[in-house]
Amino acid sequence: MTNEISKVRAREVLDSRGNPTVEVEIYSGNQFGRFIVPSGASTGQFEAVELRDGGNRFHGKGVLQAVKNVNEILGPKVLGRDIFDQEGLDKFMIELDGTPNKAKYGANAILGISIANMRLAAKNKGLWDFEYIGDSKRLPCPMLNVINGGSHAGGDLAIQEFMLMPIGFDSFKDGLRASVEVYHQLKKQLKKKYGSSAINLGDEGGFAPPIDTARDAIDILIASIKDMGYKPEEQFYLGIDAAASEFLHDGKYHIDGKILARDDFINYYYELVEDYPILLSLEDPFDENDFEAFGDLVTKYGSTRAIVADDLTVTNVERINTAIDKGAMNYLLLKVNQIGSFTEAKEAFDLTKSKDWGVVISHRSGETEDTFIADLSVGMGAERIKTGAPARSERVAKYNQLLRIEEYLGDEAQYYNKI
Ligand code: PEP
Ligand code: MG
Repeated sequence: MTNEISKVRAREVLDSRGNPTVEVEIYSGNQFGRFIVPSGASTGQFEAVELRDGGNRFHGKGVLQAVKNVNEILGPKVLGRDIFDQEGLDKFMIELDGTPNKAKYGANAILGISIANMRLAAKNKGLWDFEYIGDSKRLPCPMLNVINGGSHAGGDLAIQEFMLMPIGFDSFKDGLRASVEVYHQLKKQLKKKYGSSAINLGDEGGFAPPIDTARDAIDILIASIKDMGYKPEEQFYLGIDAAASEFLHDGKYHIDGKILARDDFINYYYELVEDYPILLSLEDPFDENDFEAFGDLVTKYGSTRAIVADDLTVTNVERINTAIDKGAMNYLLLKVNQIGSFTEAKEAFDLTKSKDWGVVISHRSGETEDTFIADLSVGMGAERIKTGAPARSERVAKYNQLLRIEEYLGDEAQYYNKI
């Protein structure tokens, strides 16, 4: 069997929001690996560049230039490379691009090639993707985003995500089942309290009800957990992703019907966590430039709460190093398309692990049927994964892949059911 890249093919396909995105296939002989690149809405200011065409076509969101960059520039240049030299391939493309943020060819073009190659290499060895990525047999705890706000929904709820974390279960499968039960109970509760339009779904499959404060969202989640006979703070914890940069205007946070200065917003979290000890994970609680405010929460809570950096660090080693210097996080949110290659995402993972911090592997709000991140979370041994509600196939596809992996691993599978 040959180990060389013999053909590279990209095309424009659609993501879960109906926006175009890049799909890449890499061939070695007649075997191929494929990857579809996802796309965010609450994108961090420091993310690698997602190349879009502009103009009228697809409201400016076409990706034909990125596709052309794969088919006509990067593709021909990587022909003949060893499919097992992932790092060499990624570094070669980064050098060819030559910009600090993949602005020349697009992170969507480069990442498409990077992950499609990894898939091909796994297939060539007859391995599952997760087995090729690493030795870990750990199933991550899912963080299911069941109430959608912010820029993923059309209402007044400032906080973008309210997530169920089924920690007190013995397996991924059991944790997922219990979460689905709570999700459906939440649907009933929302409908009863706010009417039938409250159960419309946001971008990540969570409900987008006319709730306008975080406390109301958390209250109804706790009630739904209890209704199903599960124990809050034993079996279920909650996580939020504030995506706070999205509601910072003129230096003030616009949240829950109030306008808060930075220091008042720090107090907002102190009070919220005090009143709701079930709140275990806080992602992007402050603006993506305010390392110090993140650090404030880390100092206050130590390892008893996950302070998760997403827009703050954008899966970028330089920014993670700044967060290390400033003690600004204890969990990394890892999104492969924020940085644009497998090798750099792995460097971000390893750097985070060198501090003994946790990692959440994450989808984007614009997703596809691609399930790569499910394998990535297991192969790397990440503690957690967030990939939306247990609804809408682009979200459920990842959970289903994790069910398959857990079944395949059998007794060797270990579910991360720790705080
Ligand atoms: C997030 O902010 O964590 C997220 C998944 O949203 P997006 O993909 O819109 O950045
Ligand atoms: Mg986020």
